[in-house]
Parts: sequence; C-alpha cells; structure tokens
Amino acid sequence: MVPKKRIDGIVDSYDKGDLTIATACSHTSLQIFDGARKEGFKTLGITVGQNTKFYDAFPRGKPDEFFKVDSYSELGDRSEELVERNVIIVPHGSFVEYMSPRNFEKLEVPTFGNRRVLDWESDREKERAWLTSAGIEMPKKIEDPKKIDRPVLVKYDGAKGGRGFFIAKDYPDFKLGIDHSQKFSIQEYVLGTRYYVHFFYSPIRQEGYRLRKGVLEFLSVDRRDESNIDEMYKLGAQEELKKLGIFPTFVVTGNIPIVLRESLLPKLLEQGEKVVETSIELFGGMLGPFCLECIVTDSMEIKVFEISSRIVAGTNPFISGSPYSDLIEPGLSTGRRIAQEIVYAKDNDQLKEVLT
Ligand code: ATP
Repeated sequence: MVPKKRIDGIVDSYDKGDLTIATACSHTSLQIFDGARKEGFKTLGITVGQNTKFYDAFPRGKPDEFFKVDSYSELGDRSEELVERNVIIVPHGSFVEYMSPRNFEKLEVPTFGNRRVLDWESDREKERAWLTSAGIEMPKKIEDPKKIDRPVLVKYDGAKGGRGFFIAKDYPDFKLGIDHSQKFSIQEYVLGTRYYVHFFYSPIRQEGYRLRKGVLEFLSVDRRDESNIDEMYKLGAQEELKKLGIFPTFVVTGNIPIVLRESLLPKLLEQGEKVVETSIELFGGMLGPFCLECIVTDSMEIKVFEISSRIVAGTNPFISGSPYSDLIEPGLSTGRRIAQEIVYAKDNDQLKEVLT
C-alpha cells in the first residue's frame, strides 16, 4: 500500500485551483466525467488501447483529454505524469479489477476513498467477517461441499460480475461444475427479489442522516439484468435445461432502475449505517459511494450477499438523478456527488481526509 504520508505530500504540492479528475474509460466513466465537469473540474480519461470514439456520441460525458497507456500495469510507471497534472483518481469497479487490486493499492496518485477497504472487500472471508460483525444478515455459508443440502451458489473470489458462478443442489452437482484452480465459497441460494442499494458516506459533512462521524446518503437503487439466468424461465425449468446442456450464468448486461417499498428504506439506512460504523473500527472507514447487494425474501428479510465499496455500474440509470437523490438535490448522480465531495473537502482544507 502506498504510504498515506506520500499521498498527503503529493496533495500538498497540488495546485488546488487546477485539479483534474481522472478515471478509466469504462464502467461509470460517463457520469464521473459529467459530474466532475458540472463541479468545475478538468477531466482526463485513461484508455488502454480501446476505441474512444463512442464518447463523441455523448459529448457531456466525454473527458477533456485522454491519457493513453499500453497496459494498466504501465499506469504505475507513469504516475508522475498524472501527478504533474494535479490528478485525483476516481476508481470504479472495472478500474480496480483491470489494474489488479495489488497494483491499484501501490499507485502513487491521490485517489478518492480509502484504499484499505480493498483488503476487506476482495477476500470473501474478510468481507463476511466485516458484514456479520456489523450485524448484517448474509446468506448462510456452506463449508463442506459434501454437506450441500439445498440449492447453493458457488462463487469465485474477486469482482467478476458473477462470471463462472454456478448453482448446485447437491454434491454431485458441485463436482460437475467446480474449477479447483480458483478460490471458491459456497452460499445458500436465497430466493427473493434482488436490490442493489447505492449509498454515499461522507465523513466530513454534517447535515442529513447523521452517523457518529459525518452523514450517510441514500442515492439510488437498481436491479441488474443478468444473462442468461434472467431469461431462463422462458425456456422452462432449470433441471430440464441442464439435460439440454444449458446452464445458468450471471453475466451483467444492463441495469434497471428500482423504487423500493417505502417501509424498506429505514431498515436499509440502518444497515448502511452499521456497515460504515464497523468499517471505521476495522480499518479507519470506507468513504464515498458504496453498494449493498441484497435479496429481500417474501418474509421481508434482507440478506446482503455482497458489498462494493466504490461507485457501481448500477448507478448509471441515474446520470440525471434518481427518485431518492432528487430529494437531496435535483439531478444528482453518484458521479457528481463524488465531485461535490472533493470540492467540499478542498474548500474546507480537508482533502487529505478523502484522498489516499
Ligand atoms: P460484482 O463484484 O460485480 O458484484 P461478483 O462476481 O462478486 O459480482 P456477486 O455480486 O456476489 O458476484 O453475485 C453475482 C450474482 O449472483 C448476483 O448479482 C445475484 O444475481 C446472484 N447471487 C449472488 N449471491 C446470491 C445468493 N446468495 N443467492 C441468490 N443469488 C445470488
């Protein structure tokens, strides 16, 4: 991990009137650039060989400039060039996954959020320890594959958008699908409706839904469209499909905006609050956007199967605001909220509290 002192030194050297927000050209880049521009920042799009022409179709989401690298690993060697431009990196899920969490931790460029959260988020054991110690209910874990006695989901480590995951109902099913070369975990398959709830935690603001330190905001909710499982019902029951060699997969191909039953809101805010408070005790706290990925059962139980501690692609339907963020500020996206936090921190001499 790049020492915090090193980042603080770089932040001290920055021209605060000429900051640039940079991110990798994918995932949630359109709303990050749009939000940064609306808050008066210059924007820089990091590209690794991809075609950037598609930004011409979305001029307000296009970065002012592109920064071309041959590979994400090269980014570390070119960090000085980014520092010369007073760059603040806004990481998103793809950025961290493409760069690899280890290289991302070492990147010597000020980055929005606490990079120490990665350790707790990318290892499913630690993630479970964090969430359960916060009092969050998670899907039951099955330690021994031989003891699978109900439908389970077998997951591999790392954010892969569900790639390679499979459903098993017993041990023979498990043996059929497992790839032993990857670290895996087994969870009960929870039946219910999936919601991906987008929060924003600010340790430096004081007005709103107060936590011990700072405030928690509820910005939006989506549901992922996952191929091919979401359409499988059209072809009939899964056991029948397996006989035809068709197996369910969970590859995210889009996101659907959701509005929740209002009585769920206080419960979800409480869960967000507990997750933040526990993160402060465990590793100094996460900050900025995070997402609780959960399933609500027909008895209204909320089971959280995953946390993402940065901007998630599910916020993309809300580039011009959501029914919830509109009640904070009309038209507010998560991308813009990040830029606002940087402006607020800069104006109050608190940049070091939000950058690592
Ligand atoms: P990402 O990091 O992109 O969120 P991931 O690879 O870590 O993805 P998960 O988010 O844990 O994967 O799960 C992928 C999908 O599998 C979920 O979006 C959901 O549809 C389904 N899923 C995950 N856990 C469960 C569960 N316990 N019961 C039922 N479905 C689940």
